[in-house]
Amino acid sequence: MEKKLQDQVAIVTGASSGIGAGVAKSLAAAGATVVINHPVAATKSAAEAVLAEITAEGGKGMTAQCDVSKEADVQKMFADVISAYGTVDILVNNAGLQKDSPFENMTLDQWNFVLGVNLTGQFLCAREAIREFLRRGVDPKRSMAAGKIIHMSSVHEVIPWAGHANYAASKGGVMLLMKSLAQEFAWKKIRINSICPGAIQTPINRQAWDTPEALKSLLTLIPYQRIGEPEDIGKAAVWLASDDSDYVNGTSLFVDGGMTLYPGFTTNG
Ligand code: NAD
Repeated sequence: MEKKLQDQVAIVTGASSGIGAGVAKSLAAAGATVVINHPVAATKSAAEAVLAEITAEGGKGMTAQCDVSKEADVQKMFADVISAYGTVDILVNNAGLQKDSPFENMTLDQWNFVLGVNLTGQFLCAREAIREFLRRGVDPKRSMAAGKIIHMSSVHEVIPWAGHANYAASKGGVMLLMKSLAQEFAWKKIRINSICPGAIQTPINRQAWDTPEALKSLLTLIPYQRIGEPEDIGKAAVWLASDDSDYVNGTSLFVDGGMTLYPGFTTNG
């Protein structure tokens, strides 16, 4: 049976761990050829391990080292991928990080570092993807759309987060970057959406789940009473990347077990 993303080329940024690795595996299982981006030499072996898992299951792909906050790196990665596979169909703008600090002590470096990866990195990769989608246009043998971008945002595009102003500002920025691009390029048949994860068990938030006390406290924020897994996000990404969601454009899809439902009001506030 034809798979939903058969032979489409997907770049997943920050795919050597956590949600990115989960999304890369899900896209590959759906038939996509997956580019596993990672930032530095030290993350190469982890990226190769993700690729090995994919190929062991019969999937295809390559790794690509690139710091998404650097314009020349991003342009080289897209050029390398297009030279290897001919085009790009799907971008998952996933790379992201935190540098938390009480606001009065937050340094300009901490601010710029987080905004540089989480927001400028998504701008740089989206721009290269859109240039390629515009060049190719719709090829009905590949997909009903000329291309698909999935931004990895967060529940913190709508939930303020004390002590994490740089991170919340970056995700608020991602929301309107995504919606503005969706509006600008819909008529070109380019679909652009975000996934907003709640708490997903990955290295970025280890301190929130790696002791029973921390997990108990975290679950008070999650009405569905479980922490999310990267596969929960992978399944949503496959749907948003496939023609099954062809009429979905400019949407933030919350995959959060209800975290955005004001759980503090469950027992009458
Ligand atoms: P993670 O730390 O496992 O993954 C982040 C990845 O980004 C890492 O693989 C890292 O190497 C990569 N990265 C960092 N800087 C980079 C750069 N300059 N260039 C390329 N790659 C870079 O954490 P995660 O939870 O998997 O996070 C993935 C995304 O999901 C992030 O955008 C994060 O904000 C978002 N998110 C995570 C959660 C959660 O609960 N885990 C919730 C909401 C949103």
